[in-house]
Amino acid sequence: MNQKPFSITKAYAALSAKTPLVPYSLERRSLEPHDVAISIDYCGVCHSDIHQARNEWSGSTYPIVPGHEIVGHVKGVGTHVTKFQLGDVVGVGVMVDSCRSCGSCKEGLEQFCEQGFSSTYNGTEQDKKTPTYGGYSEHIVVQEDFVLRLPKHLPLAALAPLLCAGITTYSPLRHWNVRAGQKVAVIGIGGLGHMAIKFAHALGAKTFAITTSPDKKIDALQLGAEDIVVSTDEESMKKHLESFDFILNTISAPYNISHYLNLLKRDGKMAIVGAPSKPIEFMLFDLIRGRKTVAGSLIGGIKETQEMLDFCGEHNITADIELISIEEINNAFERMIRSDVHYRFVIDMATLQNT
Ligand code: NAP
Ligand code: ZN
Ligand code: ZN
Repeated sequence: MNQKPFSITKAYAALSAKTPLVPYSLERRSLEPHDVAISIDYCGVCHSDIHQARNEWSGSTYPIVPGHEIVGHVKGVGTHVTKFQLGDVVGVGVMVDSCRSCGSCKEGLEQFCEQGFSSTYNGTEQDKKTPTYGGYSEHIVVQEDFVLRLPKHLPLAALAPLLCAGITTYSPLRHWNVRAGQKVAVIGIGGLGHMAIKFAHALGAKTFAITTSPDKKIDALQLGAEDIVVSTDEESMKKHLESFDFILNTISAPYNISHYLNLLKRDGKMAIVGAPSKPIEFMLFDLIRGRKTVAGSLIGGIKETQEMLDFCGEHNITADIELISIEEINNAFERMIRSDVHYRFVIDMATLQNT
């Protein structure tokens, strides 16, 4: 028999691209046999939440309840759930389901599901009809295979950003085998970038942060960077010309990519995770000269996300966060757009009760 652990769920939603987020309420589904009901304690604020709330990638469907860096406690389990028990501390990231039968799903790369994965919000369940609503809310119901286990000894709020910023940076660093002996750069010291600096440093690479914000220097060094490179300062950039083995690019707004490609050495690779709303042009000679590679990367599969969380547990890695109340969300969006983020906003979901 279906259980209904939650009644109406309080949330915050964007009702259109042009209006701020406002209080909203929704109903989560009854528990199917393999469903886990999660009471959300904290939710991280990703720049993708802004892109989608404001329809910057087009195709947004309103209302949108953003949030895909979800951590909380298990409050209900379906009759066939084997992986989780009441009270477990769990997380949910960018995906809540996928077809599970295509080649990518079978390889544990659900983010490249050939039928399209179900995104946690601004998407649909696998029936391709039922809309999904994210973590700026009290509760969520998710199929157990898309629920992650969290390290128990680390502070819960600071784990939330691992569910997107963490896996999105860990996955390309592992895929392109970033390691000791390499000179690596991370562009953008924001939510993704600050996690990337921690991971690249933990993997043994000599890591630099390329930034438009020289005032983030002390923090960057504390995160594990050798130094910063100020992208708006020609002298600073010149010092590092043609010197990096690998660059992870997290920039969220339109930019001149040639400027950064010049920093790669011969056979160097740039992996792009930042997804600005406008196309980016560059001269192909910037790649041809020096046999350089530009690649993209999208979050990471469920198996790798669990691996990343376990890695963070072993190495005591969490995000550096600024905890906010849900009423502060619109201001947090504005601050992120100004690059004034240190280094991930996380919403204390208990504050939804005041709304
Ligand atoms: P964020 O916290 O706002 O950080 C972005 C940082 O980029 C800023 O703090 C700033 O760092 C730098 N930046 C901003 N505008 C810039 C410009 N015009 N030129 C150079 N640097 C600039 O954003 P986030 O949450 O880390 O997300 C970053 C991007 O990744 C977004 O586009 C997001 O949608 C995307 N994303 C992609 C995936 C994926 O799977 N591929 C997953 C999650 C997010 P400094 O102050 O250091 O310059
Ligand atoms: Zn995200
Ligand atoms: Zn699939």
